[in-house]
Order: sequence, then structure tokens, then C-alpha cells
Amino acid sequence: MNEYLYGPVPSRRLGVSLGLDVVPSKVCSLNCVYCQLGPTSTPQTRRRSFFPPAELFAALDRRGPEPPRIDYAAFAGSGEPTLNADLGELIAGVKERLEAPVCVITNGTLAGDAELRRELAASDLLLPSLDAADQPTFERINRPAPGLRIAEIIAGLAALRREAGGRFWLEIMLAAGINDDAEHLDKLRAAVERIDPELVQLNTVVRPPAEEWVAAVEPERLEEIAAGFDRPVEVIAAYRGPQTRRRALDLEREVLTYLGRRPGRAEDLAAMLGQPIEAVRGTLKELIVAGRVRLRPMAEGDYYVRGEPPTHSEE
Ligand code: SF4
Repeated sequence: MNEYLYGPVPSRRLGVSLGLDVVPSKVCSLNCVYCQLGPTSTPQTRRRSFFPPAELFAALDRRGPEPPRIDYAAFAGSGEPTLNADLGELIAGVKERLEAPVCVITNGTLAGDAELRRELAASDLLLPSLDAADQPTFERINRPAPGLRIAEIIAGLAALRREAGGRFWLEIMLAAGINDDAEHLDKLRAAVERIDPELVQLNTVVRPPAEEWVAAVEPERLEEIAAGFDRPVEVIAAYRGPQTRRRALDLEREVLTYLGRRPGRAEDLAAMLGQPIEAVRGTLKELIVAGRVRLRPMAEGDYYVRGEPPTHSEE
């Protein structure tokens, strides 16, 4: 494990994915109220180089001889991956080294940049997101960097969809009372028609959000909203996928490493680590007693969050 790779992790959208983390925590153009990574101190839009791409390629080359099966290599992680100015080179280098398809999870805010669209077109799957279709809602839910205009982002996403050769699934994160009213949903549906994604994935707040007051949309309401789209729409359910194999495991260290990246439930950890749920629960209990992990109850179950920053030895 190192600072550029994490997992494989079970993902609700991708099955089992190897995470590629290409921006420092937390570099993002948005400061979404529901973000599971916590607040963005200064949302930014300038693309920069954060490390030499050869370092990530070397980390991939060092992976063990029997890596667990992965469904995707996914650019995601500690912020917005398109802010890495070397993304095109990184995608090409990962595709050379791994058989798994490459996916980029992006908030879509830079889709108006033609050079970035060319880089993204080399990936096999794009998972952009769009939570708002008018500027006031955009500012309420995504709290963007200065200068970002949702109308330009929607136009950029439509261009990206036309130009990108691979698959394209648009995620919409709905938060109760913020972007789920009928009038705004009409605007979102119009934006979706314009972007024309292969699939729309409706999501809601299931992991501990940046702002405690953010609430999930009820499952029945999500299904109702999905039925209002005139195209393929999927409501994303909690991950229940296969377990991955691990050869050797220091459970406590692995649990802390995972929770250093994102909050998780005991069952997520058990699936990702290929360990019995009882063993994971026991380790979590000890870590809570030691003050290294905290419990946050959510509608979808109890999430565990890291109580302190990861140390280098745990990466
Ligand atoms: S949810 Fe994604 S886009 Fe929003 S602030 Fe967090 S990392 Fe950035």
C-alpha cells in the first residue's frame, strides 16, 4: 500500500475497484455539503502537477504477484482527480500496466476544458456527477470555487459525452430539502436530456456527510424520482458484492488504513478485507476503546470513522 493506491475496495457502483489517488487531501473544486471526506478548505479550479507520474507507475509495478481480482482501476480518492494536470499521462500509464478497465470519477466541473475532455476520452468509463441544474442550487449543495457556473458545466458535460468514446454514467446525489423539490427535478431532467448519459445513477447521503445537518432522501422517494426520468435510471443500493482475497493481513492496520481514506461500515470492511464480520467488529471495538476510531450512526447503518490522521507506516 502506498500514497497513490488504495484497496481493492468494494464499491457500490464499480464492484471491486483499485483506487488511484492522484490529488492531495483535500484538493477539490467543490465543497459539497454531503462530502464524506469533510470540508474543502479552499475550493480551486487550477490544474496542477502534484507528483511525477512515474511514482504512481512504480507503485503499480511493485504490486504483489497475485493481486486480488479487480473490476476497475478507478481515479478517485482524496479530492477531484481532474485537477491533476498529468491525468492524461496517468490514464495512459495505468492502461499499459493493468488489464482492468480504467474509470474516472469526477465532479465534472472542469468539463468545459477541451484539453481535459481529450484526456478523459482515453478512459473506459466516466462517472461524472451533477447535483444541480441552476446556479442557486449549485451554490447551496456544491459550494463551488469562485467562477464556476453550472450552465457552463452542463454544456461541458454534454460535450464530454459526445467526444468520449467509453461508457458514461451520470451520478446525481440528492439531499433532502436541498435539491429534491419538483421544480428543481424538472430542471435536472432537462439537463440530463441535454447531456444524454448512457445511465443515470441516483444516490443519496449514506456516508457521514461534511455537514451534520444534511439528510438523505427516503428510499421510496428515490424510486419515485427515478420513475420520473424517461431513460435508464438506477437507484444505487449499498454494496453487497463478493469478498476479495487477501494473503496476509494485519487486521488492525488494514482497518485503520481503510478508514483513513473513507468512513465505512463493518460489513464493507469485512468484504474488502475478506475477513469474518465478527473479527472486524472485534477489531473495531478495540479501536474505539483505544480512541482511534469513532462510531457515527447513519440511516444505512453504523459507520466507523478514523479518529486521527493516518501515520506513514499505515499507508
Ligand atoms: S463530494 Fe467530491 S466533488 Fe464534492 S467536495 Fe467531496 S470530493 Fe469534492
